[in-house]
Amino acid sequence: ARLLNVRLKQLQKKMVTAGMAEESAYDHVLTSDYAALLVGEFNRNPIINDEAAFDIYPRPAHPDPSTLSLRPPIVTIMGHVDHGKTTLLDTLRSASVAKGEAGGITQHIGAFSVPVPVPEGSTEEQPRTITFLDTPGHAAFSAMRARGAGVTDIIVLVVAADDGVMPQTREVIELAKKDEENVGVVVAINKVDKPSANVGNVTQALMTEGIQLESYGGDTPGVEVSGLTGQGLDRLVETISVMAEMQDLRAERDGQVHGYVLESNVRKGLGPVATVLIVRGCLTTASHIIAGTCHGKVRVMTDSAGAPVKAAYPGMAVAVSGWRELPNAGDEVLSGSEADVKKAFANRQRKAEVEASLVDMEAINAQRIEERRKEEDKEEGATDEVQAVESGPKELRLVIKGDVSGSVEAIEGALQGIGNKDAVVKIVSTGVGDVSESDVMMAQTAEGMILAFSVNIPRAVENIAASNNVPIYSSAIIYRVMEEVRNRVVALLPPII
Ligand code: GDP
Repeated sequence: ARLLNVRLKQLQKKMVTAGMAEESAYDHVLTSDYAALLVGEFNRNPIINDEAAFDIYPRPAHPDPSTLSLRPPIVTIMGHVDHGKTTLLDTLRSASVAKGEAGGITQHIGAFSVPVPVPEGSTEEQPRTITFLDTPGHAAFSAMRARGAGVTDIIVLVVAADDGVMPQTREVIELAKKDEENVGVVVAINKVDKPSANVGNVTQALMTEGIQLESYGGDTPGVEVSGLTGQGLDRLVETISVMAEMQDLRAERDGQVHGYVLESNVRKGLGPVATVLIVRGCLTTASHIIAGTCHGKVRVMTDSAGAPVKAAYPGMAVAVSGWRELPNAGDEVLSGSEADVKKAFANRQRKAEVEASLVDMEAINAQRIEERRKEEDKEEGATDEVQAVESGPKELRLVIKGDVSGSVEAIEGALQGIGNKDAVVKIVSTGVGDVSESDVMMAQTAEGMILAFSVNIPRAVENIAASNNVPIYSSAIIYRVMEEVRNRVVALLPPII
């Protein structure tokens, strides 16, 4: 009421007549949808926090992470080609399964978990494990890093003892240095079974790159291993575990899930299946989940040994079926109430559709501009004395209203590409919801027009617009909206003499 500058009674009365009797109690917290409706009732333009209203977001960081449960470290094996990453992973993986399920059939799901031998007399509740992302140079790794989501806690840098530091070794070192606050490095000097192995040389070469191994008084642990014979792998596991302990990796083991898709594929009888690496929360059967523009309800979860999993916790990677669509590797996964997930899905899908149609638009737009330029060149050639009387570009001023934030954002984005040095698009305001009287007023003041995408224009508002000569262009087809804008921008261009 204070914001609207009306008395509380007045607001409550309006709420009752608008069918919000239940919400009109003084201590009721309005949803953004209701609040927006209500603001419209007072002829004001709501500015909606789109993110809160239409999408789903991970819950805020825990105020005191040190009180949370420990989670397994997430480890990525990296290094130069042929230095033995795949072999090392295979040996680690088979070791992990041999101890577990009978038959020991591993499924490639993008990650696997290796048990850490528990020190004698330990009273820890959770058995310790290490999660290895199991494709070297994982595509998802880059995808996740690209969006600033460093899920990896520890990099195992594999360096072949018979080959030493190579270009990709340096790349990994660079990568690790950039992120040294969040990512630890363990060096695995590999292929030590080979007669040509020279550990001393490798250690020296690493030092030149700024990596000083513990054995030489530095602070980077190094382990001599052979992925082929299995030599030193116990020590590698132990070293990783010690580093993880120092990192004190903790996360919520309950509540809504935040994670990432490691990889995905369609499986016979299961449909789309995506491996989800859990960062926070607990994923269970029947959880509602969303990743990018894909959503679903968890049907079956299995681990890398193919064993069913009822609940997946932070640090675990599980193959999840129940998706309606196939998610992309690297996408963020969130769980939420069915309603939240559905709303977020609708919003993202709409945004994606609009963006897809805009790809075409950009091409067409570029082509038009090119044609126009050619035309201009031709004309210029014919008449030399063409003079541009310029005082800055002309502006097509727009008030944009759309049905969901996704489409408004997409339209905004697309409009950036329209125009040239003589005529440009200027967005005066944007909003979600039906066209209102204040939109008309705003457009009139700006001497602009209203673009209405998939929203209603109440008859009364239409009349006001007409009597004030404010054009409204309304369509549910993005292509048409763009076409209209472009034609109007072209109309603003100075005539070609
Ligand atoms: P990646 O490209 O880093 O994944 O390397 P691979 O795991 O494919 O290994 C490249 C080659 O090195 C293969 O021929 C492996 O058999 C061999 N190799 C890997 N690890 C070892 C090892 O510890 N000892 C020996 N002798 N050969 C190895």
